[in-house]
Amino acid sequence: MTLPLTQRLRLLILGGTADASALAATLAADAPVDAVLSFAGRTDNPKLPPIPWRIGGFGGVDGLINYLRDEKIDRVVDATHPFAAQMSRHAVIACNAAGVPLLALERAPWRPVAGDRWIEVDDLPQAADALGAQPRRVFLGIGRQNLDIFAAYPQHAYLVRLVDPPRGPLPLPNVELVVARGPFDLAGDRAMLEAHRTEIVVAKNAGGDAAVAKITAARELGLPVVMVRRPAVPARRTVATVAEVLAWLGHDAAPEKRGV
Ligand code: NAP
Repeated sequence: MTLPLTQRLRLLILGGTADASALAATLAADAPVDAVLSFAGRTDNPKLPPIPWRIGGFGGVDGLINYLRDEKIDRVVDATHPFAAQMSRHAVIACNAAGVPLLALERAPWRPVAGDRWIEVDDLPQAADALGAQPRRVFLGIGRQNLDIFAAYPQHAYLVRLVDPPRGPLPLPNVELVVARGPFDLAGDRAMLEAHRTEIVVAKNAGGDAAVAKITAARELGLPVVMVRRPAVPARRTVATVAEVLAWLGHDAAPEKRGV
């Protein structure tokens, strides 16, 4: 898809996921639009994309509306993680207010298959509760932001995997740390769980390929998985592949409202 320069769309991609990076790489190769990829700034050394990028929050809904207006953004693709519900909610409200078409790029959630032993819960406090009173060896593949929830359950021995080395001590009394950046593979995750003698895995239902190895490894090892369901976000148009985003960019998606 190649648009004449005068018609080039200005696209904001809300990122922080492998899908957002894949979209950026595809757009860099073909450059049908002027795109900027936005990161929250949670990781110390984000893998920088081959397109323009920015880092940091917008300042809530009003800040995002101002950004869309100041940067003359024509379209927004929300490729944030399914658990980044606040950013997704802000994107729906701000795009609606600014009359900017919004598309979410989101993988379908994982579904249990034969051999899986999932305990599905609605949030991380429920996940911590589901580990039970007896001490267990637990793999926490949930990022660093909510580890303190598990501090109230000090009877367990935790293995925590983080993208960056933590800036201070982890809030868990009995913890081993692995610092590694995905995507992860099955052999590596299986070996990690075996070496730690993990008895139960806690995971967010991210969907997609980049983080699924731990779920497959748990199935192969017969381990239960406490699977946190996705948080609710307001309804928005959603696709699952970069190709579908490109198709959307190639078609008219007239803003519902203009002039904010
Ligand atoms: P969140 O709770 O939904 O968002 C909190 C605030 O962070 C937002 O209100 C916004 O600040 C800012 N923010 C989030 N994503 C942003 C982006 N792409 N660009 C600019 N600002 C952004 O988000 P979160 O769960 O903390 O996730 C933060 C980032 O990590 C996201 O980019 C997400 O894709 C990525 N990530 C999250 C998870 C997870 O499990 N939550 C896992 C992997 C990757 P303002 O209100 O100031 O605009």
